[in-house]
Amino acid sequence: MRYAVIADIHANLEAFSAVLQDIKSAGGVDRFWCLGDVVGYGPDPSSCIKLLREQKPVCIAGNHDLAVIGKLSLKDFNPDAAEAIKWTVQQITEDDKKYLESLPRVIEKDGFTLLHGSPREPVWEYLISIGSAMANFNYLRTQYCLVGHSHKPLFFHQQMDGNVVSIPFNETIGQVLSRERCIINPGGVGQPRDGDPRASYAIYDSQAGIIKIHRVSYDYKETQVKIMKANLPLKLSIRLANGV
Ligand code: ZN
Repeated sequence: MRYAVIADIHANLEAFSAVLQDIKSAGGVDRFWCLGDVVGYGPDPSSCIKLLREQKPVCIAGNHDLAVIGKLSLKDFNPDAAEAIKWTVQQITEDDKKYLESLPRVIEKDGFTLLHGSPREPVWEYLISIGSAMANFNYLRTQYCLVGHSHKPLFFHQQMDGNVVSIPFNETIGQVLSRERCIINPGGVGQPRDGDPRASYAIYDSQAGIIKIHRVSYDYKETQVKIMKANLPLKLSIRLANGV
């Protein structure tokens, strides 16, 4: 079985479409997993929700998705993010809202836990250090865990002696999922933050037991023009060129 693992689309239709095209040209997948933040920051929330639903995904809610449906306070977001969330509320349909309302915060499936932030704090925690990974393995009930939120491709695994190590996770080599426990972030589709502006996602091949990062160039200039036309904060446009 082949799984596409994507996170943090953030209403970036150009990036998301390029990723879907890339998946298709790689032979397609059997399952589609999305780790939240479908909307927020970007200029095409409704189109991205529609396109996502066409993939019949297993999808969980991110902090931006929850804020758009009024389940998180805007006070917890930085001013640019809050402004984009307010704008997004005006753009999406009732049906879009119902879809976002239907998304759970945690799902356990096929040996994986899927969530947006971390096992101990599924919505908000940025799981980016060995220290936070080590603490979070204690909250994990499955062997593997997939997270989003930081928009950075990351791979932590817990060795048999309990030590946690961070392994380089990039497009050059796939990582074997062994009997050791892992926490994995596929990077961000719509607003990558690892210094590489290309959209990031992962493909997991359960037969081979390998998960691999894929990076996809897309026309971010088109997204930038849309962000400016929508009068969304300028910073949200600039960062797409730099992948930060
Ligand atoms: Zn996000």
